[in-house]
Amino acid sequence: MPPRYLTSLNLQAFIQAASEVPYQKIESDLFPGIELWIRRDDLLDPLISGNKAYKLIYNLIAAREQGADTLITCGGAWSNHLHATAAAGARFGFRTLGIIRGERPRLSSATLRDAERFGMEFRFVSREQYHSRNHPGFLEQLNIDPAEAVYLPEGGANLAGARGAQLLGKIIDKTCPIRFSQVWVACGTGVTVAGLSTGLKATPVYGVEVLKAGHSIARDTEYWSERLQHASPTREEMGGEGAVDPICRTSRQEIHLKNQYHCGGYAKCPHHLRAFQREFECQAGIPLDPVYTAKLMYGLCETARVGQLDASARILALHSGGLQGRRGFRPE
Ligand SMILES: *Cc1c(COP(=O)(O)O)cnc(C)c1O
Repeated sequence: MPPRYLTSLNLQAFIQAASEVPYQKIESDLFPGIELWIRRDDLLDPLISGNKAYKLIYNLIAAREQGADTLITCGGAWSNHLHATAAAGARFGFRTLGIIRGERPRLSSATLRDAERFGMEFRFVSREQYHSRNHPGFLEQLNIDPAEAVYLPEGGANLAGARGAQLLGKIIDKTCPIRFSQVWVACGTGVTVAGLSTGLKATPVYGVEVLKAGHSIARDTEYWSERLQHASPTREEMGGEGAVDPICRTSRQEIHLKNQYHCGGYAKCPHHLRAFQREFECQAGIPLDPVYTAKLMYGLCETARVGQLDASARILALHSGGLQGRRGFRPE
């Protein structure tokens, strides 16, 4: 299954590509007693990959419609969002500026080297400055002129990003090969799981938290699901070009968050998680990344193993991409 390429910035083309993303049944003894499938959004595009593509699509279309020539965003040295934004800028003709916390390292991460090759310029800022990245006036404080630029929050966490995740839910409803009883996804900001919960018509969603976040992910998923439910429909949803099903604004699936599989915190990858990842990759023949998708599959494995899932459960796990981040982990 070769990756496809998103070749034009157009919602119809995006929906077409997303509708061709394959579903695979997993044959593995790591998930006893359940029927498990995976949707390979890592194969949507080799560079604008996984859930970050969905979180970008409406942002990119809006930027083009506004005539903006630059995308500005921020992230860490291994950020999947930064990588995808830089690639999207190169693909669709936007300049890109990445705001990065801390000093420029002597040796850049593979992610930042890629982003630079894609044409992204960087601004390295202090921790204090980075801390105010979601405050109004952030760009002006850095002497960046926001005219003709669009600012995308870290991780693509804005309403347009959430709408993209909602679109993914609708596409799953339209294209899934069987009726699933649960959809599982890795959670960082919680935007993706919130979008899915309002996009899917009848399937509850389960989110595996990949960081020690206390209650903040639960709070944020609530916030984004509410925003999506009360947002007015986009032009496409009104029946314009690329119409999927119009949103039924009252529909919202339950979200179940699992907070015991973060394995010590964000980007922490203890030995047992590595061993699990290796075993999964070997049995299923599907690559994972240690930060997100390995924790997702690990959480599912543990939940199945302790018998917390119905024997009749038919589960869809979302491969949300992020494979570029594997390069941040040395093989053991
Ligand atoms: C960013 C990311 C997530 C988390 O998505 P959120 O919307 O922030 O919850 C999951 N998987 C991968 C591979 C990611 O890059």
